[in-house]
Amino acid sequence: MERRDFLKKAGVAALTATGTAALVGCGEKGDSKEVESLKKQLADCTKKAPAPVAKPKTYQWKMVTTWPPNLPVLQTGAVRFAKRVEEASGGRLKIQVFAGGELVPPLGVFDAVSDGTVECGSGAAYYWAGKVPAAQWFAAVPFGFNAQGINAWFYSGGGLELWEEVYAPFNVIPRPQGNTGVQMGGWFRKEMNTIDDYKGLKMRIPGLGGKVIGKAGGTVVLLPGGEIFTSLERGVLDATEWVGPMHDLRMGFYKAAKYYYYPGWHEPGTCLEVMFNKQAYESLPKELQVILDAVAMETNLWSLSEFEAGNGAALQTLITEHNVNLVRFPDALLSDLRKMADEVLEEEADKDTASRKVHEAFKKFKAQVGVWGSVSENAYYNVIADKYKLKM
Ligand code: CA
Repeated sequence: MERRDFLKKAGVAALTATGTAALVGCGEKGDSKEVESLKKQLADCTKKAPAPVAKPKTYQWKMVTTWPPNLPVLQTGAVRFAKRVEEASGGRLKIQVFAGGELVPPLGVFDAVSDGTVECGSGAAYYWAGKVPAAQWFAAVPFGFNAQGINAWFYSGGGLELWEEVYAPFNVIPRPQGNTGVQMGGWFRKEMNTIDDYKGLKMRIPGLGGKVIGKAGGTVVLLPGGEIFTSLERGVLDATEWVGPMHDLRMGFYKAAKYYYYPGWHEPGTCLEVMFNKQAYESLPKELQVILDAVAMETNLWSLSEFEAGNGAALQTLITEHNVNLVRFPDALLSDLRKMADEVLEEEADKDTASRKVHEAFKKFKAQVGVWGSVSENAYYNVIADKYKLKM
């Protein structure tokens, strides 16, 4: 090899390998122009400071909820949501969570998100019925969807798009964030045999279910969670519903009412929500929006799983340790309530065009999944019913 060629190759190799030391090592006094040129290039290269790496922008958000502090699955689910978002985003999006009343009143959550007081909130859509009547269909509908059905509607049946449309005028973007599963019918101080037993009955039961009880002749009493037990114990209330065995056990209702009725026809799969202020959400880079959406979906699954597991265990405790009298509503009574629920829903749907639109879409999808459910979930549960029949 010619010396000139050798030097050239050695110089290039050095540049592409470890740099100056190797290059100096291969040269000698009076190196060729090529090597001098390579040395210059290398020097120029090493003089340049490395381009600064842009630090990703971080966001500090606030979330307000409708729930009392530490309420299992509901408030703890909101806290879990915030933690998971922070972890998934590598700390770029931090959300500080405030329980109901800590920053805004529980029923002020929607407005706080809507006007941008906070960036996000968590609750259930039926709380906003006074302001947004159509919102009720996205939380719980008497004799409506169970958890599986409402999730199918949201994610695969156009339900979430409709929900976004209903909240859009308020500057709010909704996402499903949890589901209670089928709730219990409630705690009653007397037996419920026919629809007439609702006449004069004072019951704590919110939302559309309450309107059905009103139609049946009952009096709906709305009380904060902390006052329900005492009112039931003193007979100010004849009955109350709450959630399911896990939460009902915690409230101690078994000490105040003799009969625990099922199923919770009024809340067959109540959806919990997280909602974002539109400008706050849209100001985020796409990947953080995806993280919020994905963690909301994950929390939805986690929440339903917690309810299923916790309710199963708590039901056993109520029966075996507290001798609760578990009773199924008679079929004829359920059938009467169902007819009244249909009337209530039509009346509510007439309140505005959005409610009518949502109600019609809801009914259409319910018929679609209902027919399938009758030969899938329902048929399967009937087959195994004897195996899991409650032993009392
Ligand atoms: Ca309830």
